[in-house]
Amino acid sequence: MSYTLPTLPYADHALDPVITANTLSFHYGKHHQGYVTKYNAAIENTPFADTPLEDVIKQTAGDANQKAVFNNGAQIFNHTFYWNSMTPNGGGKATGKVLDLINDTWGDFDTFKTAFSDKAATLFGSGWTWLVKDGAKLAIVQTKDADTPITTGQTPLLTIDVWEHAYYLDYQNRRPDYINAFMDKLVNWDFANQNLG
Ligand code: MN
Repeated sequence: MSYTLPTLPYADHALDPVITANTLSFHYGKHHQGYVTKYNAAIENTPFADTPLEDVIKQTAGDANQKAVFNNGAQIFNHTFYWNSMTPNGGGKATGKVLDLINDTWGDFDTFKTAFSDKAATLFGSGWTWLVKDGAKLAIVQTKDADTPITTGQTPLLTIDVWEHAYYLDYQNRRPDYINAFMDKLVNWDFANQNLG
């Protein structure tokens, strides 16, 4: 049984001009699809072919012999989570229970926003920045390459992809401008609240 690229939760031009249809055509249509194609090749004729994606990711994390399965599988999960972390006309201040927990952890929303943006801007090389629930508190986590917080017992609420392929066509080297636009115009706080369960 092979894995299928999940459908985008909006039209490919819906995030324009913050993230253009041109970027999505490569990022979703080529990169995300590429991870799916490579994942299917890596799991073919193995027990992983019949195992749910998140279980495969957890079972192969840190296993040097399963790098292709883990990297491509985790990148499928991370990208699907990223598309859902954004919505047209999103961004701005958090809402609901997530806002309450942000206030508990960082004191106020602006302090959280600065801390999250700094973590995303300072991640060296390729990776992801996440808002996660870790026990009773929230935390901001950086993961390198394909690494994902679902392997460390944390519950992801929100993520931003800071691999260069996520922003280079629209922002070139200006990663902080991409992060600011993500925070101000795209974040899907309803999705973050849903992930609290
Ligand atoms: Mn990406």
